[in-house]
Amino acid sequence: STGAEQHEFSAEVGRLLDLVVHSLYSEREIFLRELVANAADATDKRRFEALTDGARALPDDAKIRINPDKDARLLTISDDGSGMSREELVSNLGTIARSGTRAFGKELESAKPEDKPNLIGQFGVGFYAAFMVADRVEVVSRRAGSDEAWRWVSEGKGAYTIEPATRDKAGTDITLHIKEDADEFLEPWKLQEIIRKWADHISWPVTILKDDGESPANEGTALWRKPKSELTDDQINDFYRHITHNFDTPWATLHWHAEGTIEFSALLFIPGSRPFEFGEQSRESKIRLHVRRMFITDDAMLLPAWLRFVQGVVDTEDLPLNVSREMLQSTPVLARIRKAVTGRVLNELKSRSSDADSFLTFWENFGSIIKEGIWEDAEHRTELAGLARFRSSVLSVTENSGDTPNSWTTLVDYISRMKPEQDAIYYLTGDNEEALASSPQLEGFRARGIEVLLLSEPVDSFWPDRLTSFEGKSLKSVTQGHADLEKFLVEGEAAEGEAADLEILIPALKEALGNDVSDVRGTDRLVTSAVVLAAPEHGMDLQMLKLMRRSGQ
Ligand code: ADP
Ligand code: MG
Repeated sequence: STGAEQHEFSAEVGRLLDLVVHSLYSEREIFLRELVANAADATDKRRFEALTDGARALPDDAKIRINPDKDARLLTISDDGSGMSREELVSNLGTIARSGTRAFGKELESAKPEDKPNLIGQFGVGFYAAFMVADRVEVVSRRAGSDEAWRWVSEGKGAYTIEPATRDKAGTDITLHIKEDADEFLEPWKLQEIIRKWADHISWPVTILKDDGESPANEGTALWRKPKSELTDDQINDFYRHITHNFDTPWATLHWHAEGTIEFSALLFIPGSRPFEFGEQSRESKIRLHVRRMFITDDAMLLPAWLRFVQGVVDTEDLPLNVSREMLQSTPVLARIRKAVTGRVLNELKSRSSDADSFLTFWENFGSIIKEGIWEDAEHRTELAGLARFRSSVLSVTENSGDTPNSWTTLVDYISRMKPEQDAIYYLTGDNEEALASSPQLEGFRARGIEVLLLSEPVDSFWPDRLTSFEGKSLKSVTQGHADLEKFLVEGEAAEGEAADLEILIPALKEALGNDVSDVRGTDRLVTSAVVLAAPEHGMDLQMLKLMRRSGQ
């Protein structure tokens, strides 16, 4: 129209626009995330400005409206935010101020064509993403505290125009003239789906205008950002069910705001039951990372694999919304968050472990995952071993007592029951608890009143090798050669005359068994059974041998 001033984009914006439009095809739907994020940022900004300037006060019903118009092929995103002055339109939408965007442009330019679609998903591309789905974008904006409004229009081809406009109140409308091949973005259900996926927990109401009126599109509140005192148990439990797809209540809810060198809010859950098919999934933690409420990714591995049963959200101020994958891997911000979050979860487990009944519920659900940490995490190995619960040869395990705390022991409790002359923690690994409890391997230990831990989970074949000792006591498998039984007195009668019989028996057995065994020895380990298979003194644990054989090694 007449009176519109024509401007050229800066060279960089021109290049970026070209790249975005031609390379982002498979990820087009993120344009809506970017525009809604901008609208939310602008609303936050206005709320902040209003603190010192009453003329900019935010309306009580401030929200973000998405209005598709199929007939006119227009999609409008409106907000009640800060708005932009003429100068702000020029500098914010016509130049690139941010290094992140510049880096994105460079990466895109140098990437091989087949890599570009992947590269794109890794960057937020901001306002210019609108040109992926629109061949013309109009921005009408009125700065809060001002009477003037301006219209910014571009077809994304190197130039834009600016002219005066009118708008009833402060805020911004971004109107997209939807491209021929982008019809789906005029469908309310499709828009709804995109918001659910990418911007569900944005803290301002987002609505979509449908045939029957305006309907809420987002869950609404970034629950985790609210103070604990403002949240009810029902709200927390609903959110837990929403993100975990569980139907129970959480065993633990951790909700805190970290302030200081690093700022984040976290709302994490330890589920009350073991999710269906939990073991089948990937080993990576799926904690959701948000930046200023916007969902970024669930594979930033915010917790170690041995805490992968923990679910929830971490939301930080300390990363840019357009954080790249490379940055996620290398930034010290995430490293610090990881450390803080891991420490917090561990503290929760430690303090809850004093409630034996309740802790057992947790342990039966996720203890086997924690044991992976004893195996693979040198830093936390001892702490995790201290939390672990075990079955043992001296604790009564009957059908009825199977899941009471009395039928489980910690390593500390085991040590408190050790014989004065005992300096090792003995354990036996195998496939199932019942078989272990009646194993002949235990006889010699039972007869001498020495407790043996019974380890029946697959992971139990691995971690004891790494733990090696706990509170100065070494860990020893009872199958590893002649355990130290001579040191201990048999409770009751002492065996006599056996040695003489063995002098005749052993050579006879060796001859009969030949190469099937590497040795035949007398032993203190048996009391009522005649023979037992043993692993060589310095060889692998029997259960480990079995596992390796099963896996074809
Ligand atoms: P970013 O949001 O990362 O800064 P964008 O490309 O998404 O980058 O947006 C560029 C700038 O344009 C924003 O920083 C903001 O100043 C301005 N802007 C975009 N959308 C709006 C809006 N709806 N209201 C006010 N300002 C906006
Ligand atoms: Mg943005």
